[in-house]
Amino acid sequence: MKNTMIGILGGGQLGRMLALAGYPLGLRFRFFDPSADAPVRYLAEQVVAPYDDHLALDQFGQGLTVVTYEFENVPVTTARVLERRVPVFPPPQALEVAQDRLQEKRFFASLNIPTAPFAPVDDRESLEAAMVRIGLPAVLKTRRLGYDGKGQVILHTHADVDPAWHALGGQPLILEKFIAFARELSVLAVRGQDGSIACYPLVENVHRNGILHRSIAPAPGLASETQTLAETYARRVLEALDYVGVLAIELFEIDETNTRATGARLLANEMAPRVHNSGHWTIEGAVTSQFENHVRAIVGLPTGVTLARGYAAMVNLIGSLPDITMLLALPDTHVHLYDKAPRPGRKLGHVTICAGDATQLADRLAVVERYVLAEAR
Ligand code: AMP
Repeated sequence: MKNTMIGILGGGQLGRMLALAGYPLGLRFRFFDPSADAPVRYLAEQVVAPYDDHLALDQFGQGLTVVTYEFENVPVTTARVLERRVPVFPPPQALEVAQDRLQEKRFFASLNIPTAPFAPVDDRESLEAAMVRIGLPAVLKTRRLGYDGKGQVILHTHADVDPAWHALGGQPLILEKFIAFARELSVLAVRGQDGSIACYPLVENVHRNGILHRSIAPAPGLASETQTLAETYARRVLEALDYVGVLAIELFEIDETNTRATGARLLANEMAPRVHNSGHWTIEGAVTSQFENHVRAIVGLPTGVTLARGYAAMVNLIGSLPDITMLLALPDTHVHLYDKAPRPGRKLGHVTICAGDATQLADRLAVVERYVLAEAR
């Protein structure tokens, strides 16, 4: 691994944690981010330029062993330009699919991975047609650049249609059936350059205001068939894309009554061709973290065991930071701060809580959540 230099597009917290996982393996990092203020600014070399600056990309690419990305809205052309001179993992096609909700849902459907019923919406006429086909309630979403619940409106009744069209119309959209899911899960998987695949235990996720608030791993009370099914879906995606690195798929778990109606126990909502917030628990909670496994995979090293060490939960620190003294005083509780300026809705850090059994985890998590939410008020 001598002189291995990994180039990362995006210099946010995911990039930061990738570098922190790669340094013990003797790997070096260079980042590309349009902001001089990125969370990696004190951590590694950084090229500060817009993603379409080809001269800067040329400078960035010099001497790199491999390029990856930590931000899924990196323009696909940026990845393709770099691919001409250096391997890019995961493949830019994964980025392309994940950037467009319609392409993504069609891709899942082509692999026989169930999703919520969906239809493209380009104008009022196609919206009306989509509503007839899908029915209400439904969710109207932008096809591109939506994240953390932004760019989507729920249509409960016809009265919601005009305001939703006013807010989102004029750009490519998708209408999806509103799914009364039992809970949200995610599966994280890693594929090495040799094609080997390993999956982490499924995670249960809770969102607040469209942003991930908390994850619990392994997902409490999960049926082993559900784990197997999610792994089957992840494997299909990884193999179809000849993927290298960590992939996350967000899933809706459907309860038994509704499973009979939809014919599916799990629906795929979206995929992230990168390390994922719902995998942060793996730093302390799994044998090999998602960050280490991603860097191992993209440089051609064997990937590590993905088993959970015990029980873990992760709580995001959003908008403002609490005094971390109290958190650090709790047993097996770990704080990660991203060196970002506070701003409403911004992910500034996370806390991982580990425990020896589910009850101990629930008790510790309750203390952390109460504290974090009270401090954020
Ligand atoms: P997304 O941007 O697609 O990840 O959506 C953000 C959040 O909105 C998801 O995590 C769900 O909580 C919710 N959501 C998205 N799509 C649907 C749907 N079709 N039915 C119900 N809830 C949804």
